[in-house]
Amino acid sequence: MSVERPPEGPLWAAMYHSVADPAHDPYHVTVSPDRLERQLRLLRRRGLTGVSMERLLRARAEGRDAGLVGLTFDDGYADFATHAVPALLRHGFTATVYVLPGRLGGTNEWDPLGPRKPLLTEDGVRAAADAGMEIGSHGLLHVDLTDADAVDDERLAAETAGSRQLLRAVTGREVTGFCYPYGNVDVRAVDAVRAAGYQYAVAIDPGQLTGLHALPRVHVGQEDTSTRLLLKLALHRVRREPVPYGPYPARPASGEPARVPAPGAVTAPSREGSAQ
Ligand SMILES: [Zn+2]
Repeated sequence: MSVERPPEGPLWAAMYHSVADPAHDPYHVTVSPDRLERQLRLLRRRGLTGVSMERLLRARAEGRDAGLVGLTFDDGYADFATHAVPALLRHGFTATVYVLPGRLGGTNEWDPLGPRKPLLTEDGVRAAADAGMEIGSHGLLHVDLTDADAVDDERLAAETAGSRQLLRAVTGREVTGFCYPYGNVDVRAVDAVRAAGYQYAVAIDPGQLTGLHALPRVHVGQEDTSTRLLLKLALHRVRREPVPYGPYPARPASGEPARVPAPGAVTAPSREGSAQ
């Protein structure tokens, strides 16, 4: 039976960072464990299930994404393992954590202000993967890929393809998702991420670039009480560009385009040609 699907639609994905005491938090990237617990409980009571982006996109391609919400955690803070994973598992949820393979076991040195926060170690990343979480790349070192003066082509390839290779070695698993540092994205960055073999990438509000390699997300923070979170869910449709429906994965994880014929394959003459 063929299923009629709309050509595009909303895709709701929440963006978190750190789960810890938010007392000193100049960039508003920290939610308390208690607040996260309340937010996850609210989603579940509303009949929603939090899932990794990979799972959300696969379900969406099959038209089975009703009731699914993408949950993402940027930067790969060590508190993802201690506070987020236990809460997620309590509710039967999963999530994606986007880590920086050039900084594993280090701290958030890219932030000039605020507390130094420890990042997941290699063991921490593997433990999160073993707990059922998707591990994605946030680049190597947390640089703004749209800053063309600081990021030449070689650096861009290292941040995208290089980080994917490193992360694959750490996890022993395929790495299909990328997250643009600072949510900043332009055509050059999208092209590099696609060329590096990622199946999808998340941004924040990518506007005209919205698509599988520039997915919108909604910041969820400490200030998001139940009422505010429900309002954000409701307003999402008007605040973000719709995401076109399409096959997922769009091409094999090897990074090879799906339609390239196998070596030695013979190209059949066109029907039009043979009919004449
Ligand atoms: Zn980040």
